[in-house]
Order: sequence, then C-alpha cells, then structure tokens
Amino acid sequence: MAEVNISEARKAYGPLSVLHGVDIEIRDGEFVVLVGPSGCGKSTLLRMVAGLESITGGTISIGGKVVNNLPPKDRDIAMVFQSYALYPHKTVAENMVFALRLQKQPADVIKQRLQAAAETLDLVPYLDRYPRQLSGGQRQRVAMGRAIVRSPQVFLFDEPLSNLDAKLRVQMRKEIKELHQRLRTTTIYVTHDQVEAMTMADKIVVMQGGKIEQIGTPLELYDRPNNTFVATFIGSPS
Ligand code: ADP
Ligand code: MG
Repeated sequence: MAEVNISEARKAYGPLSVLHGVDIEIRDGEFVVLVGPSGCGKSTLLRMVAGLESITGGTISIGGKVVNNLPPKDRDIAMVFQSYALYPHKTVAENMVFALRLQKQPADVIKQRLQAAAETLDLVPYLDRYPRQLSGGQRQRVAMGRAIVRSPQVFLFDEPLSNLDAKLRVQMRKEIKELHQRLRTTTIYVTHDQVEAMTMADKIVVMQGGKIEQIGTPLELYDRPNNTFVATFIGSPS
C-alpha cells in the first residue's frame, strides 16, 4: 500500500508562511498533478513529502506511516529531477545505478534492475554513453531510469519537462503516462502548465498562494470550477 496522506500541512520560512494548511489524500496507484502559478508552494510541498524540507505543522504519511521526522533515505520515494541533474562524468548505466550502489545492493540485484529499467525506457543501446552524447528526450529517460531502478512506493516529479522543447514535451508526457500505466506507482507530479495537468492527471490539485483552491478530476475542474481562479487557470491556453 502506498497511499499518501497530507493533512493540515504547513510550512513557514522564519516569519514567512508559504503553506497555510494543505489537505490532500492520494490513493495507491493514483497519478496526482499539483498545478498553480509560480511561487504558490508546489515545490515546497513536494520537497516536504520527499523529506528535503522540514514540516512546520501537520502530518504527511506514506503507506499509512507518518514520515514527518524521517530523513529522505528512509522514505520509500524517488524524486525525478530535470535532465540536467545527471552526473556528466558517469555513463548512463552508472547514473542509473548510483543510488543502488549507495544502498549497497548486491551486484546481481543491481544488474537485474538496471536491465529491467533500461528495457522499460528503451535505453539498452545507450547504457555506455555519457549524458552529453544523448538527446534531450534520452536524458530525461535516464533521469526517470534513476528513479525506476529503486522501485519506490511513490514517484515525485517537479516540473520534469520544463527544459524540453514543446514537441519533446508532448512526447515525454505520453511516455510518463505510459510508464505509470505499466508500473502503477503512486505519483505526485508538479507543473505550472495547465495543459500538462489536464492531459496527465487522474486528479488535479489546484493551488494558489499556499492554499488549495480545488481538487478534482480534469473533467470536474473543467465542468464545475469552484471559483474564478480555477476557471481561468484551467480554461486558459498555455
Ligand atoms: P512553486 O514551486 O509553486 O513555484 P515554491 O514552493 O518554490 O513555489 O515557493 C513557495 C514560496 O516559498 C515562494 O514565495 C518562495 O519564494 C518561498 N520559498 C521557497 N523556498 C524558500 C526558502 N528556502 N527560503 C525562503 N523562502 C522560500
Ligand atoms: Mg517549483
């Protein structure tokens, strides 16, 4: 079970309150998109789930277990960063298994998981290359490969496609959705792009100014927006 429950989550940086009590229930296997304008607190919330930011108030639980005080390495999550976060001096294979080596996984486990992830992501021919020898889409797949080899209970994505050109973005959206359909890993995906949210999400969380404006399926938000902000945000072309 890998449901994620966020309850009354608050975050303040010193006197500055940036999340004012956020409640989100995410079911096992769900693909949830956090969307909202720049600065509304999406990354902060995601980093709190990952354990990269402390929690000022409230609780976050993963698979029924409160993780508020657990360091990132003890949470069963993997975060996908933008493609430029690859190690330039390591090969694709080395990039993908780095975390498994840190965990001191046995060599045969590492080999088997690398092979499975490389096949899933069509990276088998590229395992000995370096990131600079790859296209933008291939680099993005390597970044996802690093998360997949760990078989986490939860994937966290923070604007993973924002460095890619428009055409590649559309293709990668499709690939990420297909991957989710295959693995069914609970996913929280952050974007400021409403088209990305509408096309990828099982459930969308619309945020503004450190608060949730509405949670619903893409169709619910489109048909019955709670307020003008949601209507404008969801309805406007990107
Ligand atoms: P988003 O990802 O939605 O663009 P962020 O979560 O990055 O928004 O930021 C939310 C708010 O918190 C912003 O006002 C930002 O300036 C502030 N903030 C983020 N990180 C820090 C930090 N380390 N110290 C102080 N303020 C921060
Ligand atoms: Mg952000």
